Amino acid sequence: MSKYTHAIVIGGSLAGLMAARVLSDHFERVTLIERDTVSNLPEARKGQPQARHLHGLLGKGLEIMTHYFPDLPAALQDGGAIFGDMGLSMRWFTNGGYRLQFESDLLGALMSRPLLEWTIRQRVLRLSNVRVIDECAVKEPIAAPDRSRVIGVQVQRRAENGRAEILDADLVVDASGRGSSSPKWLEALGYARPAESVIKIDMAYATRLYRRRPDDFELIGGNLIMISPDAPHLKRGGFFFPIEGDRWIVTLGGWSGEGAPVDEQGFLDYARSLAAPDIYQMLIKLEPLSDIITHKLPSNLRRHYEKLDRFPDGYLVLGDAVCSFNPVYGQGMTSAAMQVAELDRVLQERQSLNGLAPHYFKRSAKIVDLPWQLAAGEDFRFPETTGPKQHGTDFINAYVSRVNRATHSDPVVHRAFLEVMNLMKPAPSLMRPRILWRVLRAGRSAKPRSAMRGTPVSQTS
Ligand SMILES: Cc1cc2nc3c(=O)[nH]c(=O)nc-3n(C[C@H](O)[C@H](O)[C@H](O)COP(=O)(O)OP(=O)(O)OC[C@H]3O[C@@H](n4cnc5c(N)ncnc54)[C@H](O)[C@@H]3O)c2cc1C
Repeated sequence: MSKYTHAIVIGGSLAGLMAARVLSDHFERVTLIERDTVSNLPEARKGQPQARHLHGLLGKGLEIMTHYFPDLPAALQDGGAIFGDMGLSMRWFTNGGYRLQFESDLLGALMSRPLLEWTIRQRVLRLSNVRVIDECAVKEPIAAPDRSRVIGVQVQRRAENGRAEILDADLVVDASGRGSSSPKWLEALGYARPAESVIKIDMAYATRLYRRRPDDFELIGGNLIMISPDAPHLKRGGFFFPIEGDRWIVTLGGWSGEGAPVDEQGFLDYARSLAAPDIYQMLIKLEPLSDIITHKLPSNLRRHYEKLDRFPDGYLVLGDAVCSFNPVYGQGMTSAAMQVAELDRVLQERQSLNGLAPHYFKRSAKIVDLPWQLAAGEDFRFPETTGPKQHGTDFINAYVSRVNRATHSDPVVHRAFLEVMNLMKPAPSLMRPRILWRVLRAGRSAKPRSAMRGTPVSQTS
């Protein structure tokens, strides 16, 4: 039997959908409120412009989503998602060479972000105690007279001439993304705004779709291509992922504002300027299916709700509203899923919603620490990056460069790297003696970088 009566979730994107799924186990009713029109199609909405860009789902994210929706992998596959062994299927150039392709037993899924979200949304909407109200914006939380507790939200529906309405709830969860109004709303209720960590990166994305041909996988020697820049000298990287509908999604991106142009030739020239030629060599053979669209991400942004002394009962914040990362590391959806899974555990442990927020925020902050440290640490490879830099970052980055070079030849190091990158293991697991020794050994026997650079995909056996 459900312990509580009604939960409201603000925002019907990935964090909101996952939150609704978990809350449906603890509340009699869950209402998901989304400002946009939510169609029954896999398509990006106005409130989530990023959904038109390439989205990689990390292993931990797939694992958590599958836990809550056991038929998700099969449904994604039916929808055209491409599954494969991460070690075998990734053609990934980094630190002057290609990571070794090997059987890792780590499963990866590739699809468009709209397909993933639509497949999850269908399953959330099948839950008998969850309903979605779309075309409806939350204007503010409503607090009890003494302001110690949030007891609902004021909403404004687009239909009915923008009629305002108050909806009551035992718990309101803000999953409204990076632009969340929670800091402002809390202030209006007499609470402090959370402190923010801002790491400025000036990341610029440019994305285009291409038609996928039957023999493309053979040509690239895997399912996808990633080209990482050799920081700090090179600032440009590229991703070339297959998605449903026999398409490739290609995102080229650069730090410090070094984004790709949106004209045909400029986009190709940018692809040719990457540290390896693989993506360029494919693009010149493929038929474009879309315009080139762009997105700018100024910073990694973390709101430290866990550091607040006072917080109203009946209110939580999660997903990008708490932490939004440089997207090149593919962590946002997985971080949201991990925060939601932690909320599930906390709700299972507790017998009351009183005092939930400080307890949950402390726990979720620990969850967010890992992706935050990985993203922020990597971004500090570029001297233009500014913001709070953790002690030891340069040392860790130097070690990770050696790990990267070891992955060119050592499957054991490569697997350990994949586990950390996919948020399945903590970062210190790369420092275990067994891995450390192999990393140092690989460093001693490494070939000169120039000998490994840029071997064209189509010329490898
Ligand atoms: C360019 C780019 C590329 C990315 N690539 C990746 C990737 O490869 N892998 C990955 O894991 N992550 C990636 N991310 C991050 C990922 O998109 C987010 O982490 C993910 O969408 C979860 O975010 P969210 O649900 O918290 O917020 P959002 O996706 O931003 O959704 C917020 C929702 O709340 C709604 N909303 C806002 N305000 C209100 C309101 N007042 N009332 C009602 N509704 C409201 C909005 O309409 C929207 O639907 C990328 C992000 C960007 C910008």
